[in-house]
Amino acid sequence: MKTEARRSRKASAPHKYIFVIGGVMSGVGKGIATSSIGTILSAKGLAVNLVKVDPYLNVDAGTMNPTEHGEVFVLDSGLETDQDMGNYERFLNRDLTGADYMTSGMVYKAVIDKERALQYGGRFVDADHVREEIVERIERSARLNKSDITVVEIGGTIGDYQNVMFIEAARVLKIRHPRDVTFVLVSYLPVPGSIGEMKSKPTQNASKQLNAHGVQADFIIARGPHPIDQKRKEKIAFTCNIIPSHVISAPDIESVYDVPVNFEKDRLGDLLIQALDMPPRKTSASFGVWKKLAAGIKDGRRRVVKIGVVGKYFNTGDFILSDSYLSVLQAVRYSAYALGVKAEIETVNARDFEAAAPDFSALDAFDGIIVPGGFGSSGIDGKLAVIRHARERGIPYFGLCYGMQLMTVEYARDVLGLAGAHTTEIDPNAPHPVIDVMPDQKEKIARGDMGGTMRLGAYPARLMKGTIAQDAYSCFDGKRLPKPTVSIRERHRHRYEVNPKYVERLERAGLVFSGRSPDGTLMEIAELPRDKHPFFLGTQFHPEFLARPLMPHPLFNAFVEAAKDRELARAKQASK
Ligand code: GLN
Repeated sequence: MKTEARRSRKASAPHKYIFVIGGVMSGVGKGIATSSIGTILSAKGLAVNLVKVDPYLNVDAGTMNPTEHGEVFVLDSGLETDQDMGNYERFLNRDLTGADYMTSGMVYKAVIDKERALQYGGRFVDADHVREEIVERIERSARLNKSDITVVEIGGTIGDYQNVMFIEAARVLKIRHPRDVTFVLVSYLPVPGSIGEMKSKPTQNASKQLNAHGVQADFIIARGPHPIDQKRKEKIAFTCNIIPSHVISAPDIESVYDVPVNFEKDRLGDLLIQALDMPPRKTSASFGVWKKLAAGIKDGRRRVVKIGVVGKYFNTGDFILSDSYLSVLQAVRYSAYALGVKAEIETVNARDFEAAAPDFSALDAFDGIIVPGGFGSSGIDGKLAVIRHARERGIPYFGLCYGMQLMTVEYARDVLGLAGAHTTEIDPNAPHPVIDVMPDQKEKIARGDMGGTMRLGAYPARLMKGTIAQDAYSCFDGKRLPKPTVSIRERHRHRYEVNPKYVERLERAGLVFSGRSPDGTLMEIAELPRDKHPFFLGTQFHPEFLARPLMPHPLFNAFVEAAKDRELARAKQASK
């Protein structure tokens, strides 16, 4: 009886919404704040779903250059999204779906498509329909996730005219469900060098701008270089019209994994639950695992492995944009943490190795080298030169997508002796097109149909017995599984492939295709056997998208393990 009563109460419990909006400026950690709210509420046993809304008109993030917008993250479904979706998956430790993401482009397209299909019954279609489309999508995500609470992050900053429709949607949801919606403003308190004092005025202005949209912030997450003092907390509370305990201090910290720990210290989870008119809930002991991770990942006493990431999407003006390879960098860190070492990751500019006689000695200082995903011709000769050096010098090498394709090109040229070997992405008339466009892709390219048309999302692959890849995938949490893993599922984003016509020749020359599509036609993993190289492996897919802090990726583990061996061997050598 009792259980039934509880169950029916739960079934009728109203759904709750938290909207996270940015104030003052972008890039202050709104995505991490949203992810962290997800982590702390999940740790209270609540079913949480996170939704990202992006104001741009691109229908998905796939058509944007990473230097413009950071990494393009790919979901299982194949949807190309903003990098925040990667943070959400990593902080929630689960896969998200296409229902958890939307852009203005997606929303407007849906409304216009409906109008063209007469689905508005002859009515006048205007901005209200756009707003309702947004509300419906948010509600749909909540429904599909069967969650208790939906946390929606609104991209951009308050004051951007581009995101007003999303704020409108949030406002209307609040009117419809006054006790079930709460607003979090993630703001910034600068400390101007000449004054040396934390300034709260920009936050007050952001709060007022939000008010102008008919929305009152219930919480302010006060980002800044320092913790916010009581005096300013009160000032913000009174000027922004919120309870002082709802001003949450969020100073700069060494690691993003500390953010949920700090939020929990400030009881943000309890306060949000209270604000949403829900009964109090205890944080479960499982949160301890997260705390341990957050402390361990920045542990300065660990041995350091040096990893070089060779890329080209690093420069935006004078800044180095590590966001372009965010998932790769995180994946390395998780495996390093799991293996008891610390990864020092350096970016390597491929173009530095394109000179007539490049100095490769800098590469020898690395314990492992990664060539991540990429497109186009710039830096390609430099990447090929780096791969050759890693292969010849026995430096652990991990190629991700483009990095696997280029590793195949290098092998065909330098080991097989096929001088004109190339990818047709760069040289459509290459005498030896070892990497070629997939047949179905040819038509799409000819039509100029480029958005969302690559081979995208999760596909299965079979593993070859006794290979490094199979070995890696047969370990979980540092332990060997009772049976070797025979098949995997990984996320993809590419148009080009190893050309089947060259597979046999490459194999005869020693390259092992240790992972293939179930029908055997697509090469998913290439590697050199252990007796030839400590770790020389590339994947046609992007393993980094499935690396999670609490579930590091097996291939990254194997790569970092090889890097750790090299570091230890070098340390031994040096101490002799
Ligand atoms: N440019 C290559 C392709 O389209 C690789 C893509 C990638 O690295 N994600 O196949």
